[in-house]
Amino acid sequence: MRNALGLMLASFVASVVITAVWFWTAAPRANISAPQTVAAATTKPLPPPPAANPAKSIARDDIETTGSIAEKLAAAPLAPMKSACANPDALGVARVVEIDTTGGPGFGFEHFKQLDFLTDKEVVLTFDDGPWPSNTPAVLKALADECTKAVFFPIGKHATFHPEILRQVAAAGHTIGAHTWSHANLNSKKMTEQLAKDEIEKGYSAVRLALGAAPAPFFRFPELQHAPAAMAYLGSRNIAIFSCDLDSFDFRAKSAEQIVATVMTKLDKQGKGIILMHDFQKHTAEAMPTLLRRLKAGGYKVVQMKARATVQTLGEYDEALIKEIKVPVASTRPIGRVVQTVSQ
Ligand SMILES: [Zn+2]
Repeated sequence: MRNALGLMLASFVASVVITAVWFWTAAPRANISAPQTVAAATTKPLPPPPAANPAKSIARDDIETTGSIAEKLAAAPLAPMKSACANPDALGVARVVEIDTTGGPGFGFEHFKQLDFLTDKEVVLTFDDGPWPSNTPAVLKALADECTKAVFFPIGKHATFHPEILRQVAAAGHTIGAHTWSHANLNSKKMTEQLAKDEIEKGYSAVRLALGAAPAPFFRFPELQHAPAAMAYLGSRNIAIFSCDLDSFDFRAKSAEQIVATVMTKLDKQGKGIILMHDFQKHTAEAMPTLLRRLKAGGYKVVQMKARATVQTLGEYDEALIKEIKVPVASTRPIGRVVQTVSQ
């Protein structure tokens, strides 16, 4: 009897040991492959068309499809990203390029002609001056309906007024840069180098504070007024400068139709380009569904520009801004941590 019991115990122990050894050596590790699965699920919904492959081999270093860990961490608490596009005929994103902003490269042929990275029929959608109620959400909806992505250049002050709207922009997976603190003309006679630096840095700190995460080191000068000293400063900060290839002049358009006509006429002539628009403008928001449909019908393809690294804001500006605003503009804590039911 004792022997039989001992035998049973021994075989049980042996089977536990064998199972444990198998588990540690051969069992499939779902947890190890999880980050890759998440990355795959959050990449662009449409695979690049075969025609894009030759360009891909040339500019391979510029292409990034998975996004940085920092971006994912930043996006994670905001909202889950859509993994699939519900619109089978969507404009989509044909290509995602990642920009190394070292030295402050310039983009947009209106002012910078060195980096001709777009191929025929490729466009980059850019929006300035938000975030703003109604208009920015309307632009976001139009972009989401077409499963496409853009670059936003928010004004720092507006970001502190409406941080929740800027967070929606980030949650939708768009790229966010900055456009100064107060939209001051950095090339005006009254502007000093110090004031220009303050406008630039305070703008980035405001966007960072609103988002709860640092934005891309992408910058657009208000009114495209490129002040030489400020350009040199941005270069020293490794911030890329965005002009445009094609100005929609939406801020002075009388109607949505006029914006669509201006953009399509210029595009059909130029064949490609970075398009400058304003999510701050009502007519732009109204124009967006039609414009995106026209781009699709015209065979245009959207390229999303992302940054390899986020901007490093300066602590002195971050701190000064928090003091100036007095109240936290955006809580990074989930509601469950702030408000807990302790009795019912
Ligand atoms: Zn502007």
